[in-house]
Amino acid sequence: MGGADVDSAGPATPRVVVVGAGPAGVRCAETLVKAGIRPVVVDEGRRSGGQIYRRQPENFTRPYAALYGSEAAKAESIHRTFDSLLEHIDYMPETLIWNIADNHVYTVCGNRQRALAYDALILCTGATDRLMPVKGWQLAGTFSLGGAQVALKSQACAVGSRVVFMGTGALLYLVAAQYAAAGATVAAVLDTSALWRRVAALPKLLAQPRALWKGMLLTASLYRARVPVYFGIRPVAIEGSDDSGVAAVSFRDSMGKTRTLACDAVAMGYHLRPENQLADLARCEFRFDQPTRQWLPLADRDGRSSIDDVYLAGDGARILGADGAEASGELAALAALEDSGARVDSSRMDSLRRKLVKLQRFARGLNQAFPWPAAFAAELVDDTIVCRCEAIRVGELRATLSVTGSREVNRTKAFSRVGMGRCQGRYCGNAAAEIIASDGGVAIEEAGRLRAQAPVKPLPVALEKDS
Ligand SMILES: Cc1cc2nc3c(=O)[nH]c(=O)nc-3n(C[C@H](O)[C@H](O)[C@H](O)COP(=O)(O)OP(=O)(O)OC[C@H]3O[C@@H](n4cnc5c(N)ncnc54)[C@H](O)[C@@H]3O)c2cc1C
Repeated sequence: MGGADVDSAGPATPRVVVVGAGPAGVRCAETLVKAGIRPVVVDEGRRSGGQIYRRQPENFTRPYAALYGSEAAKAESIHRTFDSLLEHIDYMPETLIWNIADNHVYTVCGNRQRALAYDALILCTGATDRLMPVKGWQLAGTFSLGGAQVALKSQACAVGSRVVFMGTGALLYLVAAQYAAAGATVAAVLDTSALWRRVAALPKLLAQPRALWKGMLLTASLYRARVPVYFGIRPVAIEGSDDSGVAAVSFRDSMGKTRTLACDAVAMGYHLRPENQLADLARCEFRFDQPTRQWLPLADRDGRSSIDDVYLAGDGARILGADGAEASGELAALAALEDSGARVDSSRMDSLRRKLVKLQRFARGLNQAFPWPAAFAAELVDDTIVCRCEAIRVGELRATLSVTGSREVNRTKAFSRVGMGRCQGRYCGNAAAEIIASDGGVAIEEAGRLRAQAPVKPLPVALEKDS
């Protein structure tokens, strides 16, 4: 690639860059347009909609009800809103922001790169699956829940002919139910959380009765489809071979009995983790969130980060789901407008804040009902791969800790290469920190968090031929 084209913001028009065209980014852009601003909206996806309202390819014709079920009306509203904005925004699809520095975002689209100046930056970058390793998870046929759902939503494909869903969280049941409804064979749902936790979390979950009811209907639909559902399990291994991939999953049931289920694919995940590398590159401060055991960028109730002119919204700031993403996207745009001296509707801001408080309570309920299984890290056997990009095993990570005395993730990364590969620790970072904490005998927050490095994702490199 050649040098980046540098676009400076003109003095008269404040340039607002919105990253992400999911529900948070769409509502954010809509609010800015209503206020007379022409924002730049950048998204690495080919089409707008983000994760939950991911659009199918242009030549696919599945109806909204088939694709989005009970969320069809919301999906249609987000898509129509975005389409109506196209004349009023500068939309950059299939464009990755790979770095942020000195009030510029660095973008790459194909092999063209640009540096865009901004006066305000609103990060609506969403989330990805949160994963805990299990022996054998490197075998072909192992997917994250999100990956399995993308195959279904985008391409109408199942990831296997007999799929086991393993992990915990609302997405576990949702994706399994979507597979069953699409006619795929769901071999079982293996939930690491015990059923009683759901009951204990009810008071918080009742903050969103409709969402709770939808969750119950999903579980009922699995029973109707005769899918076996196990609660309180412990994963033992994904079995199979390097040549033929996944052949079975073994686990201990809640009574301690080891069981093995034949399958040719596994979809696994433990709720979500915010995509917050860009917030890190923008130098936002982070704090440790004890209930979710994750580091989150600091933001006030309206989405103002610790850095002037940088705002955070949607799941990339804190995981509140799609309704929370819409509300926080609008609120962050209103906060940016207010900070620029524009008049904003303060009663609208109050109502959005109230909505987010309720959603936060519901999210706490989900964390209580479907906890991240931190304790599993200590039980991982040494030959389990922890970092799939670099093929580093748990035993190698433990040996690094013991030889170097390191108890901090970035230092441990330098010694072990865990988190240094293509995914930059997105998929192994949480688990690696848990292993460091449990083996090193330190609190998880002391193990720290992997610092984001540019480029946040691999970039294309155009090579010149020797003449
Ligand atoms: C795989 C997956 C599947 C999900 N499925 C469901 C579901 O079926 N039902 C449900 O209720 N919830 C689901 N969720 C949760 C739901 O997606 C979110 O609550 C909601 O979409 C959050 O909206 P958002 O706008 O914050 O982020 P998203 O909808 O995730 O949108 C973020 C956007 O930012 C873009 N982006 C991120 N980083 C960059 C970058 N560096 N450069 C350029 N663009 C970037 C992404 O391409 C993406 O389009 C899912 C989450 C995931 C991760």
